[in-house]
This record gives sequence, C-alpha cells and structure tokens, in this order.
Amino acid sequence: MKKRDFLVLDLDDTLVATTPALCELQTKRTGVQHDIASCTSHGRLWGLERHELVELMDLHLASGATRNPPFIPNVIDCLHFLSRHFRLAVITARNEEYCFETRRQLRAAGCDFHRVHHATNRHGTIPKSQICLDYGYEMIIDDHLTTANECAASGIRAFLFGTYPWNTQGELHSNVQRVLTWPEICQLLIPAPRD
Ligand SMILES: [Mg+2]
Repeated sequence: MKKRDFLVLDLDDTLVATTPALCELQTKRTGVQHDIASCTSHGRLWGLERHELVELMDLHLASGATRNPPFIPNVIDCLHFLSRHFRLAVITARNEEYCFETRRQLRAAGCDFHRVHHATNRHGTIPKSQICLDYGYEMIIDDHLTTANECAASGIRAFLFGTYPWNTQGELHSNVQRVLTWPEICQLLIPAPRD
C-alpha cells in the first residue's frame, strides 16, 4: 500500500476561528467593539503590544477554547475524510509554550494528527516553508498570505484559506490557490468521481 502523503494544516483561523473569538473577548474586556474587519495584520491586533496579545491568548485558551474549540464550519467532517487519504500534520505559529493547550484543542477534533510543529519558540520563529522543506511536506493549507507565498515559492503546493482582511491585500504567488471552504478543499484534493 502506498504510504500516504502528508497534508500540512495551519491551526488558527484555518481549523479554528481564533481571531473572531479574540475579537469577542477583547470587546467584552474593553467595552469597545472589536471586529475582524480591523484585524488587517497577524500579530499586530489593534496595536496591542506582544505581552498584551499573549495575555489575550491566555485568557482565550483558559475560557474553554481548548476543550470546546470554535472550529471553522465543516472542518471536523472534512478532516476525518482527508485523514483517510493523507497523514495530517499541523504547523502553528503559536509559541511552543502553548503546546499543551494546542494538543488538547486538536484532540477535540477527534482525528489523528501525525505531527504537530510549533514554528515559534524562545529562540525565534522558523518559516513554515522551511519546516515543510526540512520534513519533506509537499502541501499546506494556511490563512496567512506570506506563508502561502513563501511555501509556493519553495515548490510546496499552497492553499490560502478563507477571505480575511489580512489575506486579501497583497499579491499572490502564481502557484498559490485560494480556497474558501473546507468542502472545497476536499473536492480539490480528492475529486468526487463523476457519473
Ligand atoms: Mg492562521
């Protein structure tokens, strides 16, 4: 039997709707409306300093998001389907300090993830494209435009997930394919036979 290829997945805003949950939380904390439209860049939400973002993420994960994650629509059914065809790996830009919470969040999906990588640790951040090259991964799904572009430029098949304020501005590498929903991803990767 052919060894199944790896399919690499991003976590935040690709598998789970993290930024909308952070918006809701920040609105509750400050009394000021925060919405996804104002999140135009990753890692610089609402001008917060890094330690403030960490504090917000800590509160989010402590609020039940690790046991009951806000999964993107259809993602669980699609992951179960795709796991029959691919070995699933996750590369998250989250700091590895969140590895316990991250694994618990992934377990809530109820399917096997063969590998989970944290691209950020106390030494810095490794580009996801580099991790893909190091491990021989050939396909990635991510909502981050720069990540998708870098992976495509490295010869990795890259899918840019969703239409978010942070991924609709800027040029796409010619080999990046934008995908809007998880059923669309399934159909692209494993086309249904036609009559
Ligand atoms: Mg993401």
